[in-house]
Amino acid sequence: MANPIVAIVGRPNVGKSTLFNRIAGERISIVEDTPGVTRDRIYAHGDWLGKEFSMIDTGGIEISDQPLTTQIREQAEVAIDEADVIVMVVNVENGVTDADEQVAKILYRSHKPVVLAVNKVDNPERRTQIFDFYSLGLGEPYPVSSVHGVGIGDLLDEVIKHFPERSNAQDDQRIRFSFIGRPNVGKSSIVNAMLGEDRVIVSDIAGTTRDSIDTNFKTPDGHEFTMVDTAGIKKKGKLYENTERYALMRSMRAIDDSDVVIFVLNAEEGIRELDKHVAGYAHEAGKAIIIAVNKWDTIPDRDQRTMTDFTNLIRQEFQYLSYAPIIFVSAKTKQRLFKLPEMVLEAYEHHTRRVQSSVLNDVIMDAVAANPAPSLNGRRLRLYYATQVAIQPPTFVVFVNDPDLMHFSYERYLENRIRAAFDFTGTPIHLIKRQRK
Ligand code: GDP
Ligand code: GDP
Repeated sequence: MANPIVAIVGRPNVGKSTLFNRIAGERISIVEDTPGVTRDRIYAHGDWLGKEFSMIDTGGIEISDQPLTTQIREQAEVAIDEADVIVMVVNVENGVTDADEQVAKILYRSHKPVVLAVNKVDNPERRTQIFDFYSLGLGEPYPVSSVHGVGIGDLLDEVIKHFPERSNAQDDQRIRFSFIGRPNVGKSSIVNAMLGEDRVIVSDIAGTTRDSIDTNFKTPDGHEFTMVDTAGIKKKGKLYENTERYALMRSMRAIDDSDVVIFVLNAEEGIRELDKHVAGYAHEAGKAIIIAVNKWDTIPDRDQRTMTDFTNLIRQEFQYLSYAPIIFVSAKTKQRLFKLPEMVLEAYEHHTRRVQSSVLNDVIMDAVAANPAPSLNGRRLRLYYATQVAIQPPTFVVFVNDPDLMHFSYERYLENRIRAAFDFTGTPIHLIKRQRK
């Protein structure tokens, strides 16, 4: 099930992103090597005392061409819409400002739990100044120094107290999938077109604390799915809805909550930078992925060749997604939309596939016999044994004499042989090399 969401709000320069990075800690660097994933993150995981959560730095959601007050207000709205708990950050050096009061007023009206962090309390003398912040009406102010990592524990103790109880009712066996992608690629149009089909039977489960709705549907052949996060996709008209950073954050959330993600591209506009960020995150998260090229109806004279050209472009731009199947659809004409549920089902089956060790080892040994690992500095890689240790995504441990002797290209070769032997279309697979003791 989805993790609780903590959103960080406050006017500029109070230290929101410093606090965010401090709480995310080392976890933040995990995705940095993936192509297309930016360093400056607005969405990350955290945990405190074994409680996991996801975190949003609303300060990273910029609404350009808007006055500062509008930006701050919109960021507070994002927090209210997305979060289970809101951390409002203020700066002890400035005391209570007008902007602080404005933000507090918006949060107060939302009835969401708010924890007030008074930042830049770098020394004990400054502690005496935190009491002024009671006037914001948000309860007890928690002094922290994000730069020095002081007070963070007490703050998080308070934050996790407000997490919603986990309901087991929603922990069912349905396959969870979502549509991800930048604004205007047609995600909500596809959702609406699919839900409009009378061949799907729909039921909405209203989210309890959050503003999110999961939609359950069942195909005539009896497969049940849960479409994640459709409320967020449907809701329109707010300023921040069309910003790229919000779309990215939204996609990251949907990815976390899903087994399978359908990554939507816009055929009319081609591939943009933000597409790569979204895809990079999905890949890094190890989810099953399907690429849907939407608005295919807008391509003039489309035929097999235009499809091949677009496929080649995708393969070139998203080399790390070579396992993801591509489908060309149109929400407008509903072309091929009916195929999506079966593709989701198939990707899910591959994502959860277990292969027998004996069969796996036959494949690995055949691969080695056909193409032995080249020797490195006079030493040769020896592979002893392989076994699958996890699913979602399928993860294999290969025991070798020396992991350093396994070159990246040889790892690729083995992965390809595994893929040729077992159908893992739609899912990444992970190979872990381990020295045999
Ligand atoms: P944001 O705009 O709210 O995200 O603020 P930033 O995290 O970018 O921080 C603004 C400035 O305040 C930066 O120069 C930070 O180094 C500084 N800052 C953040 N936290 C602290 C703190 O705990 N103590 C001090 N002295 N400076 C801090
Ligand atoms: P989202 O932001 O990704 O949810 O995108 P929307 O579903 O709101 O679609 C953005 C715009 O693209 C709307 O004006 C849609 O009518 C249009 N659109 C969506 N899908 C298609 C399609 O398949 N063909 C065409 N021609 N237009 C589409």
